[in-house]
Amino acid sequence: MAYKAINPFNGELIREFPNATDAEVETTLKNAHEFYLEAKHQPILEREKMLKEVADEMNANIDYYAKILSLNMGKLFNEAKQEVLRTTEFAEYYARNGSSLLKDQPYEIPNNYAYVEYNSIGAIMAVEPWNFPYMQVMRVFAPNYIVGNPTILKHASIVPEAAQAFEEAILKAGIPTGAFKNIFADYDQVNKMIADPRVQGVALTGSERAGSQIAAESGKNLKKSTMELGGTDVFMVLDDADLKSAVNDAVLGRLGNAGQACTSAKRFIVNQKLYDDFVDGISAQFAKRTLGDPLDFKTTLAPMSSKSAQQKLQGQVNDAISGGAEIIWGDNTPIKGPGSMFNPLIISGITADNPMYDQELFGPVAQVYKVKDDVEAVQLANRSQYGLGGAIYSKDVERAQNLASHIETGMVAINQTMLSHAEVPFGGVKRSGYGRELSDLGIKEFTNQKTILYK
Ligand code: NDP
Repeated sequence: MAYKAINPFNGELIREFPNATDAEVETTLKNAHEFYLEAKHQPILEREKMLKEVADEMNANIDYYAKILSLNMGKLFNEAKQEVLRTTEFAEYYARNGSSLLKDQPYEIPNNYAYVEYNSIGAIMAVEPWNFPYMQVMRVFAPNYIVGNPTILKHASIVPEAAQAFEEAILKAGIPTGAFKNIFADYDQVNKMIADPRVQGVALTGSERAGSQIAAESGKNLKKSTMELGGTDVFMVLDDADLKSAVNDAVLGRLGNAGQACTSAKRFIVNQKLYDDFVDGISAQFAKRTLGDPLDFKTTLAPMSSKSAQQKLQGQVNDAISGGAEIIWGDNTPIKGPGSMFNPLIISGITADNPMYDQELFGPVAQVYKVKDDVEAVQLANRSQYGLGGAIYSKDVERAQNLASHIETGMVAINQTMLSHAEVPFGGVKRSGYGRELSDLGIKEFTNQKTILYK
């Protein structure tokens, strides 16, 4: 059984789930297709109302939903509650704005009239990661439900209880299983579903490796896909930055969710004028963090999501040190025991030939770089195969906006950490993937943008 919930704090097996049978796969596809056909005749307003009920259910039982996240992937309980709230904000956004986001778009052409309408296309296969087990799923489910596309979820195998809890919230709101189904599918079954004509779109959030495999399957079957992959997001501190807020945000950006977010601040590029004070500032705050049980309110740094995540990060750090990098703050002695704890670290001296140079570090390890000016900062930022997000700190917003235009990423945040908002598009370029989630762009990704001409 591949789907197992293991408490990352103590390594205890909580529950395991059998893989789906092929008959379940077929029933899932059949129900999804029936929902797709029915939804064409259902007013959007009805789906908006139901979506709001999903949000209400999760908000009313926030502790219940949050605790599952802490137990399945180790998220601090307070951060887990924040995730539930943000998940419901995404649902509420589409519940409020669904119809208006999908209204017909008129076009002007000589001697004729034209408009585009946004029709549903069929089931969407959503392959989702463990780092934000509810939020990531809602970003796909909510807009597609409004459109009339059913979602079939293949969640990460380490968060099966979270996958079930999400489905539970949907069923409690009265949404039928055809509109949303969590399925404990193996990779072959996922590929079969992608190939099935009842599935017309594929959305993945996860690693570059998973992304390239699923994108290849989608391409082979001529199915549209969106890929939200990893990043090595920069956190740039210019010489005129407000140091205190840069330091505070840097620590939140690196240690939030135990450093396991695609848009976590990962590479800290700091002007030489502020470099020493910045490193002292973040070191002092890293030192105040306490690793422990995510359900204990005294814990301020969560364990990593799994033993394999802990071991992967340890390997990356060891390779970086062998390649000449230096730990300038923190204790690199591996934490023994069944849990997945990882001590925070600050690393410098990462040269272009170091294995860590262009790797995504999915955990509480900060890479710091000293630069002489903005030109060097932008060059370093862009010397990456990834292009997801990034942040720039400067008291001169116009200067930061100018630099933002030169950074090769899908998103840049100025004087704040990179967070997703329902109202604005989210996504990357280069090996961070393609397509956009959230906002008007997100809801239109999996629609038939149908042109209608009339006289
Ligand atoms: P993966 O990218 O492997 O997993 C993400 C999802 O994809 C999971 O549901 C996984 O299922 C599924 N998956 C992976 N390969 C396939 C496949 N061939 N066919 C069908 N489904 C597939 O993440 P990992 O947990 O392995 O994390 C490894 C690294 O990926 C991290 O260290 C981090 O660098 C990056 N990552 C980035 C994320 C982001 O938000 N950008 C999120 C998660 C990871 P299953 O669990 O069953 O393997």
